[in-house]
Amino acid sequence: MITICEVGVRDGLQNESTLLSTEQKVDMLSMLTDSGVTDLEAVSFVHPKHVPAMADAEEVLLSWDRPAGIEVAGLALNERGIQRALHSTITKLHVSMAVSNAFNQKNSNCSVEEGLANLLPNVQEAAEDISVTAILATSFGCPFSGKVNEMDVLSMTEKFLHAGASKIVLGDTTGMANPYQVKQLVRLFYSQFGENIPLGLHFHNTRGLALANVLAGYEAGVTHFDASLGGLGGCPYAPLAVGNVCTEDLVHMFHEIDVTTGINLDKLLTSARTVESWFPKSLPGMVMKAGKRSELARS
Ligand code: ZN
Repeated sequence: MITICEVGVRDGLQNESTLLSTEQKVDMLSMLTDSGVTDLEAVSFVHPKHVPAMADAEEVLLSWDRPAGIEVAGLALNERGIQRALHSTITKLHVSMAVSNAFNQKNSNCSVEEGLANLLPNVQEAAEDISVTAILATSFGCPFSGKVNEMDVLSMTEKFLHAGASKIVLGDTTGMANPYQVKQLVRLFYSQFGENIPLGLHFHNTRGLALANVLAGYEAGVTHFDASLGGLGGCPYAPLAVGNVCTEDLVHMFHEIDVTTGINLDKLLTSARTVESWFPKSLPGMVMKAGKRSELARS
């Protein structure tokens, strides 16, 4: 059994130029949970000037009649975001920091060390009230400096765990990972921290390797994966590239190899097609276009 954290409503929509209404976002959340998704990153608490698609974060959460047993996370990047998150109705806090110094300098104008010095005390405080997942962006490569040192990934993991984070997600923010690298980093992670620390993987399909990377992660022992309905989203550093690994393609792959997901793929495909109709383009998801393999085998 694997679990999926659906990030399309946050990571996906945040990187789309078409802005959805609050009502559409709420409909999307409901369709996802109705399909069996139990874990979602629904919003981010960032300045609306920087990310207009997330301006209605609180409103989305308040308008959504969330079914029981659903975990909903909000992403925050700094103290102000964390405070907003803690005053909202989320059940889990996601925080994120890039492992690459060059990436942090370009995006946040500060070094990794300065960024962590600001973020970690807030994480420590928040972790007393809510479960915190730390997402380590650029864990597999940086668009500015290239290779990212595995020891830097482990050292940042250590700091977040020490501050009280209960789960770590290694993020391939700009689609630079390859399957062998994924296996190696996951093995290193488990040998350093043991297999009891929940570890998730977050891939973007920027270079077409996302599903191969998911499978490599699974074979190395990972059972938590982030994914985005329809493959929504994109990559701010490769404007023509596609988004996160596609949820329904990922679910389809696992069902084909007899790994359960707890998700109803038919309902998920209907949800993906509905969401696609809200955009003036087709979404990258492939099974939503080709149909399930098992359907073809029957006909
Ligand atoms: Zn992402």
